Amino acid sequence: MKRKIYLDNAATTSVDKDVTEAMLPYFSGTFGNPNSLHFFGREAAKAVTAARDNIAAMLGCKPTEIYFTSGGTEADNWAIKGIYNANKDKGNHIITSKIEHKAVIASCKRLEKDGAKITYLDVDKYGIVDLEQLKKSITEGTLLVSVMTANNEVGSLQPIKEIAQICAERKVLFHTDAVQAIGTVDINVKRDNIDMLSLSAHKFYGPKGIGALYIKNGIKNDRYISGGSQERGMRGGTTNVPLIVGMNVAMEKAIRDMDINNKKLSYLRDMLIKRIESEIPDAFLNGHRERRLANNANFSFKYIEGESLILMLDMQGIAVSSGSACTSGSLESSHVLSAMNVPAEITQSATRFSFGKDSNEQDIDYIIENLKNNVTTLRAMSPLFAQQKGEPINV
Ligand code: PLP
Repeated sequence: MKRKIYLDNAATTSVDKDVTEAMLPYFSGTFGNPNSLHFFGREAAKAVTAARDNIAAMLGCKPTEIYFTSGGTEADNWAIKGIYNANKDKGNHIITSKIEHKAVIASCKRLEKDGAKITYLDVDKYGIVDLEQLKKSITEGTLLVSVMTANNEVGSLQPIKEIAQICAERKVLFHTDAVQAIGTVDINVKRDNIDMLSLSAHKFYGPKGIGALYIKNGIKNDRYISGGSQERGMRGGTTNVPLIVGMNVAMEKAIRDMDINNKKLSYLRDMLIKRIESEIPDAFLNGHRERRLANNANFSFKYIEGESLILMLDMQGIAVSSGSACTSGSLESSHVLSAMNVPAEITQSATRFSFGKDSNEQDIDYIIENLKNNVTTLRAMSPLFAQQKGEPINV
């Protein structure tokens, strides 16, 4: 049977066995609507309350500051659009970065149509935001700064504590998209001065379609989905009890095992980086060598085209992504790599390897063997490669 290696954990993770087990009773036996007054409703409400309390404790906030959403995209949309719509009287300026997830960038672009002024901060060649530019960009009319904790393509870790400090001093709200960071980065919203935070369960072995937005009490944000009184009247829609229960169990395990998992993941990541750099010529690591997520390695292989490499790896049973999973399929070049000024000729071959809890050292041997062969095969077909070797180009 063909070997199967999943190295796309930044796109999504498998659902943990304990998470599935914890969710099951809430699909059938305890299926009530937590808004109902009767026994069935009360049992479901008890589970939601327990999950909310625990998730809040893990983030370092109060349960009343947690709003369940359908995932990271909704949480990001709510954070950005909600603050703008609720605080138009105070200003119209939002600061974000050029490497944010599309959920943030597209929300900002949408608000530009409504008259918002958006500053997109530059990043350095490692994909890390420029704090001096941030300080200079804050004006009287700045409502919000939104910078992600960790980037989904190149894994770069942003200086969020410093950003939060700058925002607190200038009395500007700070939101961070921590979708890639929960379970890998130690976050405490109170300690770290974070006003709003987005998270999504399917990135830490929870189910897809559930996430949360933390909104610090006292912040004026807009009701996001009109409807019933759910989520303290801020987001209507029947509460997704099983998925909330699952998210809580997944988050608890991810945070409990964070140090041990990070140790293993960074060991595998560094081994892959070392072997690619020593065994494959003209391979370039994208992002920072140390300031990156424990499970992320993103490489460009000069003279080849990323999609072809990914398809070849797929046929060999290795699942990886080009750039980010959200843009693969569209063949759009990565806005993250272009913000990092990665030369265009290597941007197109960027390949993201993201390890997970089932990854092991034997996977790396198999990946390296196939990568080496594939890169050699693709380069043999590449006119650019022939050109740099001084060979005639066959067309
Ligand atoms: N933000 C980041 C950094 C992400 O990586 C993703 C998913 O890839 C999202 C937001 C969107 O999250 P969701 O898939 O839960 O909508």
